[in-house]
This record gives sequence, C-alpha cells and structure tokens, in this order.
Amino acid sequence: MPLTEIQYPILQVFLCVVESRTGMPAQPLNATPKQLARAGQKQDEDNKAKPLPKGVVLGPDGKPCRTCTSVSSWLAMAKSKPTAAVASPTPSVAACPPDVEELGRSSWTLLHAMTANYPEKPTGTQQSETKQFINLFGKMYPCWVCADDFRAWMKDGNEPRVSNRAEFGRWACEAHNAVNVKLGKESFDCNKWEERWRTGMEGC
Ligand SMILES: Cc1cc2nc3c(=O)[nH]c(=O)nc-3n(C[C@H](O)[C@H](O)[C@H](O)COP(=O)(O)OP(=O)(O)OC[C@H]3O[C@@H](n4cnc5c(N)ncnc54)[C@H](O)[C@@H]3O)c2cc1C
Repeated sequence: MPLTEIQYPILQVFLCVVESRTGMPAQPLNATPKQLARAGQKQDEDNKAKPLPKGVVLGPDGKPCRTCTSVSSWLAMAKSKPTAAVASPTPSVAACPPDVEELGRSSWTLLHAMTANYPEKPTGTQQSETKQFINLFGKMYPCWVCADDFRAWMKDGNEPRVSNRAEFGRWACEAHNAVNVKLGKESFDCNKWEERWRTGMEGC
C-alpha cells in the first residue's frame, strides 16, 4: 500500500519519517509475508548488482577486508552504499581500524626495528626463534593477499637470513623492496637500511 493511501495522517507522517531516517522503504502495516520476502529479495539484488570499487579486496569470508584495502577505496565503497539516514558523528582517523597502508607502515617499523636490535652474533636459539617468528608472521599477517605474496616470496629462494644483524637487516630490506616493486614504488637503497633503522639519519 503506498504511503499516500494510508488513512491515518499521523501514521503517514510516522512512516515517512521512518523511511527518511532509515533509508528503507516503509512497509505497509498489512504487508503479507510474501510481500516482505519480495522486498528483501529486491534489496539483495540491489546489493549484488553493485560492483565493488577498485582496490577493495574481499576477505576469505566474502566480505570486504579492511586490512587488505586502502582508506580511499574503503571510503569509495562506503560512499557507494545508500546513506544511513540517521547521521553518525564522523570518527576521527586516529580512532579507526588500520587500513592496508597503516598496517604496512607499522609492520615494517616493527620488522626493521627487530633487525636493528638483532645481535651481531646471535645464538642458535635466537636464530631459530627469529625464523619461527618470521614464518608465523607470514601466516598471521592480517592482510591475506599481502601474507600470501610474502610467503611465496620467501619460498622463492628468499628464506629469512638470520645469521647476524647485517644479514637479517638486508634480508628485511629486500623483503620490503619486493613489496615496493609490486606496488610500483621506488626501491630503497639497502646499503642505507642501518642508517634508516638503527643509527639514524641526520636530524633524527
Ligand atoms: C609483509 C608485508 C606485505 C605487504 N604486502 C602488501 C600488498 O600486497 N599490497 C599492499 O597494498 N600493501 C602491502 N603492504 C603494505 C606496504 O608495503 C606499505 O607498508 C604501505 O603501502 C604503506 O606504504 P608507505 O609508502 O607509507 O611506506 P612503507 O612502504 O610502509 O615504508 C615505510 C618506511 O620504510 C622505509 N623503507 C621503504 N622501503 C624500505 C626498504 N626496502 N627497506 C628499509 N626501509 C624501507 C621508508 O623510510 C618508508 O618511509 C605489505 C606490508 C607488509 C609488512
């Protein structure tokens, strides 16, 4: 029943407000289960029809994976969804879960800082634990596409080199450069890894 045909004006106003606030078409009070099912089906079809914006990566659960997607693609996807009628306050960027870039920067900081603090003469235990950590990191990294490629890179003759700090630092630099190349970014000069991550460049 169209809203205009509802006999009670107050109800009409109420349903109009519901519709404008929720963005969902108000259901007539006497809608049959069949009508309701059809409305649900229509909404599913609408959702399916929309292609995902470029750069949005799906997770193994079939839902968009935030830690595999950049903020700009995520926002593009959010914009392409119907606007929620009740406006929620915009959260500050600092309070948001990390996107693929923030996660990457933080993770590289951790990895390079680990290499910078690695012993020059590690014990056998330190070496095997470090290898275990890197292998688990490659399994648990919370961007699955990144993790898959990282593991494939390691398998392709690039196992972690952990015999001493210099080796480990260079290995991490090469791992990072492999991603830089994949993303079309400039490679970092690995002769400078220690200056960047341990001793500090001028001004640090
Ligand atoms: C294991 C792993 C896999 C990833 N895979 C993907 C992926 O598949 N797709 C994706 O979109 N993102 C991926 N990322 C994230 C990506 O590498 C970047 O972190 C992200 O794009 C942000 O880039 P950025 O330009 O801010 O600087 P980052 O690349 O994060 O670099 C941070 C800083 O490290 C220094 N640096 C740069 N290169 C090197 C190097 N080779 N050695 C030492 N220091 C260096 C520079 O000073 C730079 O400012 C991955 C991250 C990790 C940790």
